[in-house]
Amino acid sequence: MAPHATHNLLSQEEGALRARALRVIPGGMWGHMNVARLPAGYPQFFRNARGCRLWDVAGAEYVDMMCGYGPIVLGYGDPDVEAAAAAQRDRADLMTGPSEALVELAELVVETIPHADWALFAKNGTDAMTACVTIARAGTQRRKVLVAKGSYHGAAPWCTPSLAGVTAEDRAHIVHYEYNDIASLERAADEAGNDLAAVLVTAFRHDVKRPQEAPTLAFAQAMRRICDATGAALVLDDVRAGFRINIGGSWEPYGVRPDLCGWSKAIANGHPLAAVTGNDRFREAAQQVYVTGSFWCAAVPMAAAVATIRKLRATDAIATMEAMGRRLREGLEQQARTYDLPLRQTGPVQMPLIMFDGDPDFALGHRFVLEALQRGVYLHPWHNMFLSSAHQAADIDRVLEATDGAMKDISRSFDRRQLAKAAP
Ligand SMILES: *Cc1c(COP(=O)(O)O)cnc(C)c1O
Repeated sequence: MAPHATHNLLSQEEGALRARALRVIPGGMWGHMNVARLPAGYPQFFRNARGCRLWDVAGAEYVDMMCGYGPIVLGYGDPDVEAAAAAQRDRADLMTGPSEALVELAELVVETIPHADWALFAKNGTDAMTACVTIARAGTQRRKVLVAKGSYHGAAPWCTPSLAGVTAEDRAHIVHYEYNDIASLERAADEAGNDLAAVLVTAFRHDVKRPQEAPTLAFAQAMRRICDATGAALVLDDVRAGFRINIGGSWEPYGVRPDLCGWSKAIANGHPLAAVTGNDRFREAAQQVYVTGSFWCAAVPMAAAVATIRKLRATDAIATMEAMGRRLREGLEQQARTYDLPLRQTGPVQMPLIMFDGDPDFALGHRFVLEALQRGVYLHPWHNMFLSSAHQAADIDRVLEATDGAMKDISRSFDRRQLAKAAP
């Protein structure tokens, strides 16, 4: 097996690509996949992927715990999804109008997702969430949109986390509330008054660099109550969690249904597609707004989505991700006890976040993930990770073998007095 990237020694192939990239791509890479965000030593470029495994450009193999940052839900190169995509590609992908797959997919989505009376499709989660806001404003003839502080809804000026190039006017009608804080939600709704168009909420609190948090039932119900009382649209952002928690939508277990919902990431197992679903209250508004894109009606991703959703429905894929996520969580808990490390695991087990308490600048977290990386396991220190149904028990055990070595290694030099000082 080829050696893994290490702190001091990136492979020759990786180094050459980075040098070429720097000349023709600003900063060498942009956005969430820019490894400058990670501790030095992570490979930026990959050559191939299969199931839950990933190979970098020097041939080093990793168990991938990121699933492409979410889109891969059945494993890389799932044979059923790829067969459906190939069959569609044989006929056509992008044409002068949509294929039959559009109607088939919309029917399947409406049949699968209880709140959905209709669906429309786009390419990215940002497209879907922006369309949700536009449809809510068109339907209510109002402007204000409630957004939880720190929640990610995409990379457009109204919601991007970086303020570079963003004007105050882009954010003029955004009012912030605190996730899971009903009083702050009510205050924000009061502030918006009779100009409240929409209340946005992510499926659970999955902000980067902080522990994940499920919404309380009371919080979810308060959202529905406020929207019912004011006529605003309850907009669920299920872009990240959708199709991993519950096939009908991540809030189905709460019995709280949104008016509009944005989807992307896992919907087509890696093929580029996003969706907006909505109920009949917003059907006419969805018909009025002009949303489109050159590639939005390409047929291959739609055929891939049909195959992905059918497979998620027909198999125990979500239960498998949960079982394997639990296996990982319990194994890690055991290891943290063994090595006396303040490991904190949060979020749904199939979308785990692993951090260390008293580690505000991720010094310990970074060493942990680098040790795991050198043992062939790709973890993330502060963004939630993702399991796919291709992660089997042997893969999780392979991960645990690496984390055991990593924890053993970092526990040797870990100064527990520092932690005691940092503790509240
Ligand atoms: C990824 C994500 C988005 C944006 O989706 P893109 O496809 O990257 O535009 C929006 N909301 C949430 C919760 C996400 O995780």
